[in-house]
Amino acid sequence: MLVLVLNAGSSSLKFNLYDMTHEDSLAEGMAERIGLPDGIFTWTMDGVKREDSFPMPDHGIALETIIARLQEGPLKGERIHAVGHRVVHGGPKYGDSVLVTDEVLRDIDAYAMYAPLHNPANALGIRTAKQVFPEVPHVAVFDTAFHHDLPPHAYTYGIPYELSQKYGIRRYGFHGSSHSFVAARTAILLCRPLRALKIITCHVGNGTSICAVRHGRSIDTSMGMTPLQGVVMGTRSGSIDPSIVEFLIEQEHLDFNQITQLLNKKSGLLGISGVSSDFREIEIAANQGNERAKLARDLLYNAVRKFIGSYIAVLNGVDAITFTAGIGTNSHTLRAEICKNLSFLGVELDPVANEHGTGERLITTSASKVAVAVVPTNEELMIARETVR
Ligand code: ADP
Repeated sequence: MLVLVLNAGSSSLKFNLYDMTHEDSLAEGMAERIGLPDGIFTWTMDGVKREDSFPMPDHGIALETIIARLQEGPLKGERIHAVGHRVVHGGPKYGDSVLVTDEVLRDIDAYAMYAPLHNPANALGIRTAKQVFPEVPHVAVFDTAFHHDLPPHAYTYGIPYELSQKYGIRRYGFHGSSHSFVAARTAILLCRPLRALKIITCHVGNGTSICAVRHGRSIDTSMGMTPLQGVVMGTRSGSIDPSIVEFLIEQEHLDFNQITQLLNKKSGLLGISGVSSDFREIEIAANQGNERAKLARDLLYNAVRKFIGSYIAVLNGVDAITFTAGIGTNSHTLRAEICKNLSFLGVELDPVANEHGTGERLITTSASKVAVAVVPTNEELMIARETVR
């Protein structure tokens, strides 16, 4: 069964083509800068990465470009059986993946009120793909779905209850495909059933979220109604005192658009360091003595530690802590700094496995009372699996 996975952003379209017989990725890539004169198209097939630059005026042309490339390779004489779409916000309604119908599309449009930066692009991606592949099933896989069954005390905000009910204001949580994939892989690494484990999954990338997973289910998570809440991120502030919003609007004479931009695009590691949103550049600058880069780095370490600490209390203990995403998978310094403060739990890091190991692995010694793991996430594969299911 051939499944095309699509992840549409406002000016980008990522794709991955899977043969689900053995879960093989046959090709992957991305169209970027859609709508601009200098579009970039990168794709990898047969282990070879290629790049091309030409204008792609809209998502339809970008998808046609993707299909044309695939037809020169793995799609030659073959046809796609289904398309799986990443959708960021499933609102209060969707606790599972669904076949896309007109009603589902209308809901995805409506939930743009919770995810204005993501859902409109996701809906555009679905509409485009349905035009190109009208005859195959399309499946929406929601980032929020894994957290749909959070207990009310984890998802309710301390605002008047009637307003929460009226507008669906609650913690939804994100990166669901990632947290669920990583938790399942952690159980496999530990050779224990997922249903018997308490795991804290740390997705630390450009966007960061931490999740408390009990018996395979999310029971608390750091992101909120939107992906702005929680840990400090590349360009997002993470949680701040809400009064700062009002303060800045007044003092800096900002309108709502400007404050949204400020908190989503100009804050976080970028805003604190003034160097970059890219953690590699922060680490380099910090090591060269840049004080603001050090501060940004230390703030990230501390924010992740605080969530781990609180989720140990929420879970009443922990069997494993797992790191994933760009920073979580690649920065051994971040993992070491965080684990240093977990020695009280009996965490014993294996420095060789932490620094020199590659791929999915445990990075604690066999004597460690709590396991710490690295698991590269694979959200696209999760979407393909959900599409098949
Ligand atoms: P996204 O949320 O966009 O999917 P990623 O999960 O790809 O983001 O994470 C991107 C982040 O990972 C960037 O901050 C990047 O600097 C960081 N990163 C990637 N490789 C490394 C590395 N070797 N060491 C430290 N950080 C890294």
